Amino acid sequence: MTTATTQSAEQAARPAASDERRPGDVWQAVLGDLQLKVTRPSYETWLRDTTGVRYDDGEFVVGTPNTFVAEMLEQRMYSLISDAVARIVAKDVEVRFEVVSGGQAESAPDSAPTPAHVAANGTSSSTVDRPATALNPQYVFDTFIVGRSNELAHAAARAVSENPGSVYNPLFIYSGVGLGKTHMLHAIGHRLASRGLTPIYATTEEFTNGYIRAIREGTTDAFRAHYRSADALLLDDIQFIIGKQQTQEGFFHTFNALHLAGKQVVITSDRPVTNLTLLEDRVSSRLAAGLVVDIQTPDLEMRIDILRAKASATGQQFPDEVLDLLAGRVHKNVRELEGTLNKIAAYAHLTNNPISVDLVKKTLADSLAASARRKVSEQEVVDAVCSYFGVDDDVLKGRRRDKQTALARQVAMFLLREDAHLTLKATGLALGGKDHTTVMHACVRIAALANDDPALRQDLINIRESLDS
Ligand code: ADP
Ligand code: MG
Repeated sequence: MTTATTQSAEQAARPAASDERRPGDVWQAVLGDLQLKVTRPSYETWLRDTTGVRYDDGEFVVGTPNTFVAEMLEQRMYSLISDAVARIVAKDVEVRFEVVSGGQAESAPDSAPTPAHVAANGTSSSTVDRPATALNPQYVFDTFIVGRSNELAHAAARAVSENPGSVYNPLFIYSGVGLGKTHMLHAIGHRLASRGLTPIYATTEEFTNGYIRAIREGTTDAFRAHYRSADALLLDDIQFIIGKQQTQEGFFHTFNALHLAGKQVVITSDRPVTNLTLLEDRVSSRLAAGLVVDIQTPDLEMRIDILRAKASATGQQFPDEVLDLLAGRVHKNVRELEGTLNKIAAYAHLTNNPISVDLVKKTLADSLAASARRKVSEQEVVDAVCSYFGVDDDVLKGRRRDKQTALARQVAMFLLREDAHLTLKATGLALGGKDHTTVMHACVRIAALANDDPALRQDLINIRESLDS
């Protein structure tokens, strides 16, 4: 039921005649909710640029930047979205998606986003799949909270912003989801742009799509020229290049050209370089050759700092004890902290209540119940581990003992025990008939390693994230 009518942004922002609540507010609350329920990439790709357009007659209209997004939301996320809207407005509503031209989110800040694809030679539109990715005006160094868990990454990001191409090149930043990689890349982009340089920010997905399309259309020259015109390449989520040989080839050459020309390259990943299996050796050794830094989950003190900063940005009053409570309860990542905070702000605003410990407990009880870890199935664990480590199902269940396979197998054993609650025996059977003492050793080893080795700890977090979503 997608209605791809095009409407101006101005019309979209017009208050609805019979509206009980502003659609923008309702939609902000819904987004806060959805942010906690879908993966970061899905949120970024499909939901971030949507708006609350109209709410009347039991119908809620969501504005999308294009038909593609409208269709996608309609087909894949309809019930998730309509449930969330129904929860927020406390009654059943019909949700409809409408393309809003001009695409500015109603709640977007006034400042215009900095264009990241300032193509020096006018070749950008033909080579990138989507319209130029703008840098998010909120993702700047000023709004980035620095603490123990990210100070190294932050210092490196600052350094390359001030001296691009000279100090740490490439800079490789890795962390689990929601810990600030994208924020940091955008912040670097803003800094460079403000100094008159031309950074190109691209998600690896955009890079890949652009490259594949360029090959298909025979425009690889333009593709190359576009990326090589940059003063800096900021490539987000390189893990999506895993297993894509052709794109790796394109990346390798682009990287070399920029690097040779002394241009800065910054790359993010959800895992350490060594765990980017199925990446050609020459590509991974290039990535590892510069500075590699990671971001860990924030400690309590830092979580409070982050909450305090985000709270003051909402313009609403958050008492200190509320921030303490939240920081104690929410600790997976910054995105989760932010989502919870926004949700509370929205609830308080909608219900006209001050933000209090009581209100927070109520809101948290809801979302904690909703996100309480469900028991995952055997197959889900096996699939998640295989895809994370880039190992085939039959290899995981087989006898191969190279380091990577052995690690993947032990991680699978650990998760089958911990998260799928299988017995030692059942775990052994699930992995091709391994002995139960082998399983026990594996579980003990992984538990011990997870304590000492931040990279492995991060691996476990990432795999569990993918199981949760
Ligand atoms: P990633 O790319 O690592 O998944 P993001 O950069 O998208 O994470 O961050 C998720 C959200 O958390 C963003 O809204 C971002 O602004 C915020 N965030 C993450 N780290 C920080 C930080 N140190 N200070 C302020 N905001 C942060
Ligand atoms: Mg990101």
